[in-house]
Amino acid sequence: MKKHNFYAGPSILSEYTIKNTADAVLNFAGTGLSLMEISHRSKEFTAVIEEAQALVKELLEVPAGYEVLFLGGGASLQFCMVPYNLLNKKAAYLETGTWAVNAIKEARLFGEVDVVASSKEANFSYIPKGYTVPDDADYFHFTSNNTIYGTEMRFDPDVKVPLVADMSSDIFSRPVDVSKYDVIYAGAQKNLAPAGVTIVIVKESALGHVERAIPTMLDYRTHVKKGSMFNTPPCLPIYAALQTLKYYKELGGIKEMERRDLEKAAILYDAIDSSKMFVGTAAHEDRSIMNVCFVMKEEYKELESAFIEFAGTKGIVGIKGHRSVGGFRASIYNAMPKSSVEVLIDAMKEFEKNH
Ligand SMILES: *Cc1c(COP(=O)(O)O)cnc(C)c1O
Repeated sequence: MKKHNFYAGPSILSEYTIKNTADAVLNFAGTGLSLMEISHRSKEFTAVIEEAQALVKELLEVPAGYEVLFLGGGASLQFCMVPYNLLNKKAAYLETGTWAVNAIKEARLFGEVDVVASSKEANFSYIPKGYTVPDDADYFHFTSNNTIYGTEMRFDPDVKVPLVADMSSDIFSRPVDVSKYDVIYAGAQKNLAPAGVTIVIVKESALGHVERAIPTMLDYRTHVKKGSMFNTPPCLPIYAALQTLKYYKELGGIKEMERRDLEKAAILYDAIDSSKMFVGTAAHEDRSIMNVCFVMKEEYKELESAFIEFAGTKGIVGIKGHRSVGGFRASIYNAMPKSSVEVLIDAMKEFEKNH
């Protein structure tokens, strides 16, 4: 039976990405060698990483003066690399979920952290508004999509200081004004590639302004200077990322991805809002188009595990909500076809009719 993969991360990848990567694992670029056993400095792999960098720049319209890096360590390593490289005295952070909390914790090791607003008191079910970012902050950090809670900031905030964003779970789902950012980072395993690589888009002129010594591997300048080849980069995830980037371009680029994402999210939220049994958990105006979080209404609560089981019989996997929210989470990243979302909606309707 066809599986409909709603896992939050690692998550669904396009068939194009999986198939091309599998082919290269067997025979990479006609070398007669596996992608897993070639030198990262070979001309064939150098071409891969250079094309991937160029495609990120093209798809996100990255202006001159920025570098695209492919690093290890996950988005979680960026929680410390960002303040290590950018925080001189004070940084401003928006606390919108678990990942933001983790980023704040790391930043506090490097200087003063002004948490300008938090939605913690409401279990991060909305994005705070009306906060003030101090003009003297070195940067303002936010999480564009809160994977666990299903809230999203689908805009580049207007503040007087440079932006830094964790876009792990919604990069390539909308056009971004990169010129407002010092750093954008995203772990690959939500919307791009298998786990193991993190995309970092960094403004070169933002680097070199902190007093502290930075260990070589944690200094963005090391990787800028060496084109992400200071040490051995995660070759296989980078190759897979290149396939996904080509696929996005072939489909029509980021605007087209956004159009599809908005359409998929709209039909699923409509189904939730018109249901007697299910109810969304995120504030309407902040709803994520990547992670759709919902629960059963109080009077149906005891049916939650039965629905997960029922959905399983339709090939639907990965819809159990994160333990801190409960209920369900349908992650509908770029690679998720609309037809799979429709299978979920049909399952919800059928289950509701049966009970
Ligand atoms: C998954 C996720 C992370 C953590 O990524 P790792 O690569 O596991 O470190 C951080 N931020 C967001 C928004 C995420 O969705």
